[in-house]
Amino acid sequence: MTTPENSPYKTIDLNWTGRPKSIASVLIQSDGVNALLDPGPASTLETLRAGLAQNGLGVQDLHAILLTHIHLDHAGAVGALVAENPKLDVFVHEFGAKHMIDPSKLLASAGRLYGDKMDFLYGNVLPVPEDNLFALAGGETVTIGKRNFAILYTPGHASHHLTFWDAQDRTAFVGDVGGITIEGDTFIMPATPPPDVDLAVWNKSLDAISALAPARLFLTHFGYQHDPAAHIARYRQKLAEWTALARSLFESGKSEEEAAKEFVEAVAAETKHDVRAASEADHYIFNGGLYLSWLGLLRYVKKQKEKSQPLT
Ligand SMILES: [Zn+2]
Repeated sequence: MTTPENSPYKTIDLNWTGRPKSIASVLIQSDGVNALLDPGPASTLETLRAGLAQNGLGVQDLHAILLTHIHLDHAGAVGALVAENPKLDVFVHEFGAKHMIDPSKLLASAGRLYGDKMDFLYGNVLPVPEDNLFALAGGETVTIGKRNFAILYTPGHASHHLTFWDAQDRTAFVGDVGGITIEGDTFIMPATPPPDVDLAVWNKSLDAISALAPARLFLTHFGYQHDPAAHIARYRQKLAEWTALARSLFESGKSEEEAAKEFVEAVAAETKHDVRAASEADHYIFNGGLYLSWLGLLRYVKKQKEKSQPLT
């Protein structure tokens, strides 16, 4: 039985923008080997350092970084960590590797979405030298000390998303594939930012995770879910509802600005209804990036419409 004392996993709360339980990094310690799963954004580097120090470690004591995907809230700190500790091995999906080596495209698209809030939200993102990167496709095993992680390719949220599966512990580290739910809650908020969102592919990734029969899921936003079957069933439902809402707004003929406003208001109202404490509802609304989720879903329903129309 894994207890918190002998678990190889420690959750580090990165306290993003001063808000606890927004972004989690996981410290993995096994047989003298130390790794981080999703070290988070560059803006929370000092919090990450403090979390490592609480476990008697510094950046120099790390051996590897495992990335579920390269979005800045998960991987923005990698370049700075590698600059400080050039021995770090960084495991990432092959489609994401080139954006770690040259983050200019990633930063330009994030810059379009976040404007002058970029630095506050994500900090100074540095490139990662190619030699530090290990590109994965899914199907491999990554070993940290005595822990083996089976690598699953789980696109949907991002086309380069990986899930790390510890069969010994029966824990699936699913990044953002399982949405946003604070540990202990049941309310789920989708995370559907542009540009890769694809519902059909996403559901297949959820099938692949379910097929493992995990004892628990670990979500970056935020923490463990101990009833994976129920969580995944609720999440599928929510994703379908959100997509249907986005589609009906898109097809309504409203201006994009108006449709976006309606989407954000509808989801914020639903969140306030489902989450009783107002401060917690605001937490979900802020972390969920509702406008981004709207843009991601709009892009998806537009693409689907284009596909269904003959190219004449
Ligand atoms: Zn995320």
